[in-house]
Amino acid sequence: MEVFDIRTLALTNLLLSTLLGLGAFFFARVHNSFSSFRQLGRGYFLFALGFVLLGLRNYISDFFSIIVANALVVAGFSILIMGILKFLQYPTNQCKAITTILIASLITSFSYFTYIYPNTNIRIVIVSAIIAWQCLYISYKIFIHKETLTRILIRFLGYTFLFCSMVFSIRVYLTLFQPSLDNFMNASNIHAFSLIAQQLVVITSCFTLSWSASQKLANKLAIQATIDPLTKLYNRRAMEDFANKEILRSQRESTPLSIILMDIDFFKRVNDTYGHQVGDEVLREFSLRLKNSLREYDVLSRYGGEEFILLLPDTDPYTAITIAEKLRVTIAQPVFDIATQHQLSVTSSFGVATIQGDIQDWQQLVAFADNALYIAKGNGRNQVQLHSADVHSIKKSEILN
Ligand code: GH3
Ligand code: MG
Ligand code: MG
Repeated sequence: MEVFDIRTLALTNLLLSTLLGLGAFFFARVHNSFSSFRQLGRGYFLFALGFVLLGLRNYISDFFSIIVANALVVAGFSILIMGILKFLQYPTNQCKAITTILIASLITSFSYFTYIYPNTNIRIVIVSAIIAWQCLYISYKIFIHKETLTRILIRFLGYTFLFCSMVFSIRVYLTLFQPSLDNFMNASNIHAFSLIAQQLVVITSCFTLSWSASQKLANKLAIQATIDPLTKLYNRRAMEDFANKEILRSQRESTPLSIILMDIDFFKRVNDTYGHQVGDEVLREFSLRLKNSLREYDVLSRYGGEEFILLLPDTDPYTAITIAEKLRVTIAQPVFDIATQHQLSVTSSFGVATIQGDIQDWQQLVAFADNALYIAKGNGRNQVQLHSADVHSIKKSEILN
């Protein structure tokens, strides 16, 4: 008993492929960085065109309604697969070469089994075997991919292709033992299932990839909003977020919280003498040296042009100036290893301030560190200064010890 009506399924496949094809094209147009969606769109359109030609059987020549129609469906799968490979940042050359071979073999064998030895079943076996292999290939590529951001979504797509591959493989097997089909539109359930599996592939590939793309975009935006592109350190905004949380924590747990404000000495001279690009290189190297000296829970940020802030949770002023002194020595290492042939060294001045129990906010803390930094600059640069209020607390703690 036939449960599904092939003609209706073919029509819904045609409509779905056309609509989602348009959607994929628009998506690629709006988001230039996701050009792989153009390929998805092309794949869906080829499916749609294939279904139109299949549906015109007996109205147009066999060449178009059988040979070209099936070639379009196989090409549609190939282009869709290439779009997915591109989205996952795999090379597509191998897939392109395989597609050419598959389509050439399909056209040759279909011509033989249409004009010389007409046999619908063998044609179905050939096209289904090709599609089963194509789906298996992409599901394998998906499962071995190291996608982390949208792993579940991408895996879901892999399972859909695996399901489609199974349905087409079963179709190959059953068709071998079925009586010869003279009209595909009256075909049995397994043929209808293959259309449903194809629909699932179209729907799933479209929604998983667009969902995954939007998550990637959101992630990119979050990075842009918090990371400084030159040094890859947190920017001022991110630092303020971390700091506000840490201030609350330090007040709640009555632990000290220190910051070190750093400013490169005479940085303008570096730019004026060697150019802005070398200046950028110095900033990158400066950041790298700081990063390599951090403790696990310290937070480092580029706070402004050549100013950096290091947030030190649960750190008293004495420890903070010890850390700052170590950083000062690291930064002042004579030669920056820069690929630009320029051998130069820079120094930095450091202002340290601490929140200890009493209510202070971030702005106040930075202002204290800035005062200390100002004194370090005035006293000849390349040195560490502690904010005056914190000097007493060191003395107090030293007395207690
Ligand atoms: P001081 O020791 O008093 O801090 O002197 P300075 O020359 O470092 O201070 P000043 O504030 O006069 O100069 C800071 C310079 O940092 C000026 C600005 O062009 C440069 N600068 C800021 N951001 C960048 C950047 O992203 N790249 C480069 N190359 N230079 C930058
Ligand atoms: Mg400055
Ligand atoms: Mg400076």
